[in-house]
Amino acid sequence: MPIVSQCTVIHIQDLKEGLKKYTLRPERPTFYEAGQYLQLTLEKVSASDYWPISRPFSIASYSKDKKSDLEIIVKSKGGYSSLINTELRVGSELTIKYPYGDFILPELDEHTKIVALCSGVGITPLLAIIDYLSSIDALAHLHLHYSVKTMSDLLEAKRINLIDKDHLHLYVTREVSEGSINRRIESVDLEERYDNKESYFYISGSNEFIADMKTMVESLGYDKIIVDSWS
Ligand SMILES: Cc1cc2nc3c(=O)[nH]c(=O)nc-3n(C[C@H](O)[C@H](O)[C@H](O)COP(=O)(O)OP(=O)(O)OC[C@H]3O[C@@H](n4cnc5c(N)ncnc54)[C@H](O)[C@@H]3O)c2cc1C
Repeated sequence: MPIVSQCTVIHIQDLKEGLKKYTLRPERPTFYEAGQYLQLTLEKVSASDYWPISRPFSIASYSKDKKSDLEIIVKSKGGYSSLINTELRVGSELTIKYPYGDFILPELDEHTKIVALCSGVGITPLLAIIDYLSSIDALAHLHLHYSVKTMSDLLEAKRINLIDKDHLHLYVTREVSEGSINRRIESVDLEERYDNKESYFYISGSNEFIADMKTMVESLGYDKIIVDSWS
């Protein structure tokens, strides 16, 4: 059951222009699963108040410790996300309602493959999944196909580089860069690499990216597809 909690911003990192990572300390921490999201409002409200204007953000971190801080990454897009990125300072207080969402992992057996396809800021729920799988020493289950426009759009390289080299596939679509594939994700990157029975496809990114990837994955005959739609 989602709960309402005040939070204090305890750290802000500028990742790029219009893109910030916030560390939030909830007054009422609760358990959540890697891949879930929260609703954030800049207003201070309690559970008995009318819920004001808010936006959903994936929780971009995971810890088994219920009391640990949460990270979110906010890209200035329209009105409210831009307001969040201009208003919040270290020490600011805000309210979240969480956890929500079913972009969560299945039970893993030794053969399970988690094949994540994401673009840009769509990496956020997968950062929590990386944290979770690392914490249970199961990162080898994860295969990440991560597409960005330029190398400077790649987020959280340190965490991403925890993934086995053979399981990490970086696509840079608008510049030529070493160590990455300089085109979009294509069928050839998936077919024959992943067995239908044991592979779960997690897709996260813009609506257009999700629609394209879902169509591609379905056309390859895979049927376990989980999407994190931001519409
Ligand atoms: C489950 C989930 C997880 C999410 N996780 C994240 C996350 O981790 N990080 C993140 O940055 N975002 C995330 N989002 C998206 C986020 O919640 C917001 O939808 C996003 O920030 C846009 O909100 P906004 O108030 O800035 O835009 P809004 O003002 O609500 O606008 C929404 C869209 O409409 C467009 N728009 C606005 N005004 C106009 C206009 N006049 N004419 C035409 N188009 C217009 C905007 O460009 C934008 O694309 C997530 C969404 C969901 C559902």
